Amino acid sequence: INGQEQEPAVRISTRTTVFPVFYVDDGAILDIQFGTFYYPPPEGGYDHGKEVWTNDIQRQVVPFDHKTTIAEFCYADRSVIQKAIDSALKNRIKWNMLPVEQRANIFLKAADLASTSWRQDLIATTMLGQGKTVFQAEIDAACELIDFWRFNVQFLADALKYKPISTTDSDNTYSYRGLEGFVAAITPFNFTAIGGHLASAPAMMGNTLLWKPSDTAVLSSYIVYQILQEAGLPPGIINFVPANGQIFGKTITKSPDLAAISFTGSSATFKTLWRWVSENLDIYRSFPRLIGECGGKNFHLIHPSADSATIVYATIRASFEYSGQKCSACSRVYLPRSLASSFFDDMKNIVNNELKISSPLEFDTFSSAVIDNKSFDRIKAYIDYAKASSSSKIIAGGLCDNHNGYYVHPTIIETTNPNDKLMQEEIFGPVVTVYVYDDKKFDDIVDLVDQTSPYGLTGSIFCQDKTILKKTKERLFHSMGNLYLNDKSTGSVVNQQPFGGSRLSGTNDKAGGPHFILRWASPISIKNMK
Ligand code: GLU
Repeated sequence: INGQEQEPAVRISTRTTVFPVFYVDDGAILDIQFGTFYYPPPEGGYDHGKEVWTNDIQRQVVPFDHKTTIAEFCYADRSVIQKAIDSALKNRIKWNMLPVEQRANIFLKAADLASTSWRQDLIATTMLGQGKTVFQAEIDAACELIDFWRFNVQFLADALKYKPISTTDSDNTYSYRGLEGFVAAITPFNFTAIGGHLASAPAMMGNTLLWKPSDTAVLSSYIVYQILQEAGLPPGIINFVPANGQIFGKTITKSPDLAAISFTGSSATFKTLWRWVSENLDIYRSFPRLIGECGGKNFHLIHPSADSATIVYATIRASFEYSGQKCSACSRVYLPRSLASSFFDDMKNIVNNELKISSPLEFDTFSSAVIDNKSFDRIKAYIDYAKASSSSKIIAGGLCDNHNGYYVHPTIIETTNPNDKLMQEEIFGPVVTVYVYDDKKFDDIVDLVDQTSPYGLTGSIFCQDKTILKKTKERLFHSMGNLYLNDKSTGSVVNQQPFGGSRLSGTNDKAGGPHFILRWASPISIKNMK
């Protein structure tokens, strides 16, 4: 930063990177090179990748030091987005014809590169650009991204095992191809791995796509894009298209060839995309698949039998790690009166004395600034609301300061109104609201937990009574995407807790699970008479 070498556990680039939109130029033909792999290129090769420099230059700033620009990048306008669509469509059939195992190898190679030569760049750009501590950046940009790539290939191998029955008079085959049209991946700032995954899974299954990264994660996304290229992904398969969200969304939904949207972000934005698709329904050549992972109002439901040390540790981590900017972050707690005073004392003590909120480049920082000023204002408005409301009080935190970075200190609010907006709306920041209930009313509280919010992403039940735990799990089984028993609501691991939510939390297609890749496939059955 500012030309100074930094000395945390990772190597950090000191230069500002300026980079363009990438799409594929019409016309030019490339003899494809597959890195260390050799695949015969499809007849005619692929169309050549082209860098496009527009005059609309945007900046990505460092959230914990917002005077510092970490990257400048070009926004694609409508015509560039349209050219990227044309190029994706042009390459679609050739890419689809490459055997799926060969496509998959590219992502295995990318996983190897991400775990070796590119690892530090991934982690550094995620720390600087998205304000993650080294620990949070490591589990995201290195570990989870690599896991997504490797496990998708493993799930693919499982999917390919299915063979339809052939009979005495017919041979039957069942094979996977990409969707007809192009896919648009619209990806969030909060996980570098999610961006890489949402763009890669459709590509592995034979789709060509446009990838619009979040403006506030554009640099780490670009690193992922470079890794894929080095791994042998031909230009024009994933077209890297930073753009204004509205312009991008409107342009892709007005294309008759839109085959699918691969989305992670807010429920409101996902609804807007559905709306734009519905406005254009009559123009599409096929029904676009809209696959989304959206918001949450995730809970910690605490039974009087819960272990008091566990609930404190779990709530601190789930609510405040990465400043609560995970879809899975815990933002409402239901606490029995019998545990209230020790819980509040311990939480307050940790927030006031133990959590270092500072630059993530200091190794002992617990969490840093939130992503941008818009987020800062939104979160601060909820804290101001809590301060002014007669039904809530601030137990700890509540400080907001955006002079140098967008800092919001971990904040614990107690409310006496279980239906307050603090218990219903997603805040996406380091703010947790606690409702204290009468120990005898646990059963009513389970219903309340279920009915209070429109989301169904994650939730945790803390209870040492096995019978009650089982009963409560069965009651919440029908609405949640990811349920945790005696553990925090965050931190799903690929192939351990496939991740996704129901209700307004999304289409529950479970990243890191066996079915995700099949959402990007359009299988074909062929009956061949003997
Ligand atoms: N999978 C992550 C977790 O379990 C959250 C992903 C997200 O924020 O979208 O914490």
